[in-house]
Amino acid sequence: MNAGPAPHRDPAAAPDWTRVRADFPLLERQVHGKPLIYFDSANTGQKPASVIAATDAFYRHHNANVSRAVHTLGTEATDAYEGARRKLARFLNVRADELVLCSGTTFAINLVAYSWALPRLGPGDVILVSRMEHHANIVPWQLVAQRTGASVRVAEILPDGSLDLPGLYAAMTADVKLLAVTHVSNVLGTVNPVRDICREARKRGIVTVVDGSQAVPHRPVDVAAIGCDFYALTGHKMCGPTGTGALWARREHLQAMPPFIGGGEMIKEVSFDGTVFNDPPHKFEAGTPNIAGFIGLGAAVDFLESVGMARIEARETELLAHATEELGKIEGLRIFGTAPEKAAVISFLIEGAHAHDLATLLDLEGVAIRSGQHCAHPLLQFFGVAATCRASLAFYNTHAEIEAFVAALKKARRLLA
Ligand code: PLP
Repeated sequence: MNAGPAPHRDPAAAPDWTRVRADFPLLERQVHGKPLIYFDSANTGQKPASVIAATDAFYRHHNANVSRAVHTLGTEATDAYEGARRKLARFLNVRADELVLCSGTTFAINLVAYSWALPRLGPGDVILVSRMEHHANIVPWQLVAQRTGASVRVAEILPDGSLDLPGLYAAMTADVKLLAVTHVSNVLGTVNPVRDICREARKRGIVTVVDGSQAVPHRPVDVAAIGCDFYALTGHKMCGPTGTGALWARREHLQAMPPFIGGGEMIKEVSFDGTVFNDPPHKFEAGTPNIAGFIGLGAAVDFLESVGMARIEARETELLAHATEELGKIEGLRIFGTAPEKAAVISFLIEGAHAHDLATLLDLEGVAIRSGQHCAHPLLQFFGVAATCRASLAFYNTHAEIEAFVAALKKARRLLA
């Protein structure tokens, strides 16, 4: 299939970051007459031209439904869709038949909640959830708890925004059936030692759900090596289209779990006497999927691999260090989340300035940051603040942008003083 122009780079050479950035057409635009500085990649990532071209090429040349028609277009669409699953599986070091394609992390975690947890948990059981989770990894567990009589227990964090690991391990008592933990915090940037955590949980017979939304776009992730039971991710934060994502699960879970949503594609045979479900992962993919989106996600994987995940991680570490140092020079600025292992997400406040006012003034300078609670109310409650500003960087950002952002922030601070 013609998936559009793929980026060509020499895997042995250090990337030319200016050229990498040039692959993102949107980064060329202006906002309020100023060059856009996009520091909101934890919210959603920008898309390289090859991803846009892949989705465009699908609709122009191959559009058909998947797994249904024997005609040429149907076969091409199915091959491309399944090809994207294989690419993503290879990228994560998992088997393709253990990878359920879905609309994103929110759906993926709800699938575990409704299909794994709901039929298994009951009164007296505990779901252990860390304080730093996104609402997508809190609310589904509260819903399960309400319906089963199980309870939700919180694993606390330390003031620097790292997980209190001794506390977490002590909280893994015999009544804990499931642990839900993020790989990387979307607010603090904290990188959790998920491999160690999952090993400790497994020793105690606790099933683990890892939210990989903020990890997969920014560092090499070997899901098999983590040793979790479930790993959820979202495509739009990793240069892919919105409405794409995946749940990886151990095969034994996928086989034992009932379907979450019923309909076409997830069945082998249907009669009014009963239905025989399809094999995993298709058992969990009812209805017409976001075919063009997943083909775009496959192109996003190609793109990320062509840059190199280890290089992306190193580049973002360097940008984080620069931004942290520059922000540290601003009087009255407080950074939330200073864990030793940290991704390029910086939540901050400036004394006397409201987060939304700062974000609005920065927008006038062309700088896009997020302000608010970042879908993590319990985490902000821990820090005793109603909102923060969040600058989240990606490999396509530059050192010059960091300097312009800091200058804009100083200007905003003067205006609000
Ligand atoms: N988990 C984390 C850590 C996130 O940052 C996000 C998105 O911001 C989500 C879950 C939800 O992802 P989605 O909205 O793509 O389902």
